[in-house]
Amino acid sequence: MSRGVLDGVEIDLPCPSCKRGTKRTVAWATANNGRTHECRWCGASVQVDSSQATRELGKVNRAFDDLKRTLGRLGR
Ligand SMILES: [Zn+2]
Repeated sequence: MSRGVLDGVEIDLPCPSCKRGTKRTVAWATANNGRTHECRWCGASVQVDSSQATRELGKVNRAFDDLKRTLGRLGR
């Protein structure tokens, strides 16, 4: 699967302060790994952790795999 497709996927970056997530794209999280961003809910400075993005991507990948299996069955 091309990485470019996943770059636009939005993931939730959790805020340790208020526990809510701020939506960012995978491309953004990767580009800003280790920097801080402002939580949209409480305004806290949150360090961006792209490993979170990678974990979320794993879920997306599995969903794509499920979809491919489903489509494969339909094609037979
Ligand atoms: Zn917050």
